[in-house]
Amino acid sequence: MTELLSNYVGGRWQPGTGAGTPLFDPVLGTELVRVDATGLDLAGAFAFARDTGGAALRALTYRERAGLLAAVVKVLQANRDAYYEIATANAGTVKNDSAVDIDGAIFTIGQYAKWGDALGDARALRDGEPAKLGKEPVFLSQHVQVPTRGVALFINAFNFPSWGLWEKAAPALLSGVPVIVKPATATAWLTQRMVRDVVEAGVLPAGALSVVCGSSAGLLDQLKPFDVLSFTGSAETAATIRGHDAVARHSVRTNIEADSLNSAVLAPGAAPGSPAFDLLVKEVVREMTVKSGQKCTAIRRILVPEAAYDAAAEAIGARLAKTTVGNPRNEAVRMGALVSRAQLASVREGLQALEGAAQVLHDGRAAPLIDADPQVAACIGPVLLGTRTPDAAQAVHDIEVFGPVATLMPYRDLAHAEALAERGQGSLVASLYGEDAGELARLATALAASHGRVHVITPEVAQAQTGHGNVMPMSLHGGPGRAGGGAELGGLRALDFYHRRAAVQAGPAVLEALQP
Ligand code: NAP
Repeated sequence: MTELLSNYVGGRWQPGTGAGTPLFDPVLGTELVRVDATGLDLAGAFAFARDTGGAALRALTYRERAGLLAAVVKVLQANRDAYYEIATANAGTVKNDSAVDIDGAIFTIGQYAKWGDALGDARALRDGEPAKLGKEPVFLSQHVQVPTRGVALFINAFNFPSWGLWEKAAPALLSGVPVIVKPATATAWLTQRMVRDVVEAGVLPAGALSVVCGSSAGLLDQLKPFDVLSFTGSAETAATIRGHDAVARHSVRTNIEADSLNSAVLAPGAAPGSPAFDLLVKEVVREMTVKSGQKCTAIRRILVPEAAYDAAAEAIGARLAKTTVGNPRNEAVRMGALVSRAQLASVREGLQALEGAAQVLHDGRAAPLIDADPQVAACIGPVLLGTRTPDAAQAVHDIEVFGPVATLMPYRDLAHAEALAERGQGSLVASLYGEDAGELARLATALAASHGRVHVITPEVAQAQTGHGNVMPMSLHGGPGRAGGGAELGGLRALDFYHRRAAVQAGPAVLEALQP
């Protein structure tokens, strides 16, 4: 029997009482560990986090809590090698792809430690200046932001077991709000190990950080009015969560990050062979292959001027053909596995649906795997699809295949490109490639209405740009509509979710004495 990973709730390690669900190596097919959350006293766990963890965190100032984050960074850095080993074994990712999850998390916590330190020795935040409520400044309204007196429950997706925890936990802990994380079962090991290391290092107050590994059964029932819930995963599960009785009845503040049909748009003037064209080709291939395309921000739709369609198909296909796929432990491999055989089946099914609406332009499925058995490994080569009639091809705007798959489509003019991008019904990110600053700025503003982030690449920023799919803590992450309607990161804006805004109406003496 493999190890049964323990849950950390109520300030102690508690194994589930069931047999456990096994986690697998998606390349070798071997069982690694098991998780189980049966029999936990969830009501006690939430109460301990809220009362003990919340009180301890709120007693500290922002600067002190920033110090906790800096200590977490040190713990995670000291154990980095173990995290890479777990990622290779359980997520099947090559080193560069594991870095997005592991080092991306450490970088993000470090940023919040720095920004939090600058907030100083306060325990609440003033929001703007006092506003007069009458003619004379004798009675005024001062808005304040105070930490919510509840727990932050995170229900996370399988593709970012590290970053998915810490990009949320950093602003939550900085705000003074305790965290309970429920990682996706398939990759729960890395999340659990990181929590274990931080708990064992004793750098956080008791109750500040808990982890439940296994089923989510009963978690949402524990939510109370001042709790907040952050969900990352499929649109389907998101809909169930939004409709949950406790969420609806207690108006639990909810942040949802769901699936997204992100686009890359080549500007009208960018001809094949131009620097902007080459930048688009490079970025599309990178986005399709990093983490085997299992990124919510990955490029799924590629929009190019009609005249560039054939050249784009050829250039992207030629680069994809160089992608070596297989066992991430082999140095020759550039792209590892999907997270599980179940995901492989889901990608194949999605591809079949898209093939009804688009042609296959490059098919990496036939290429041999390196060091991996196709009967066992959850590996699949990249597939580029294309349709010359994108208006009629509803499936390509609808179906998110969570793997190394994207669809190329031509547009007539900028209005058409904008309309096609919007067919995603709200996305996390669009990237634009061109040289005409005015034209790109107009398109960026237009797409800002339906996208959380617009990433504009001109030749001057080619070296400095941070990548279409890379979520930087300084920038907003989240998108409207189909993307879930969430808003994360964006520097200190992230703290809004974990604070309550209130207006204090009083005379100047009281407002001045308010304790921020
Ligand atoms: P999922 O099946 O929806 O699962 C997400 C999480 O919800 C898991 O922890 C899962 O637990 C849990 N869950 C499942 N059913 C639940 C229920 N009825 N009540 C409460 N929790 C429940 O999604 P996934 O397959 O892990 O993730 C892939 C999807 O996430 C993709 O569509 C991707 O686009 C999206 N994603 C979005 C973002 C973003 O930031 N926008 C980031 C990453 C991924 P179990 O694992 O135990 O079932």
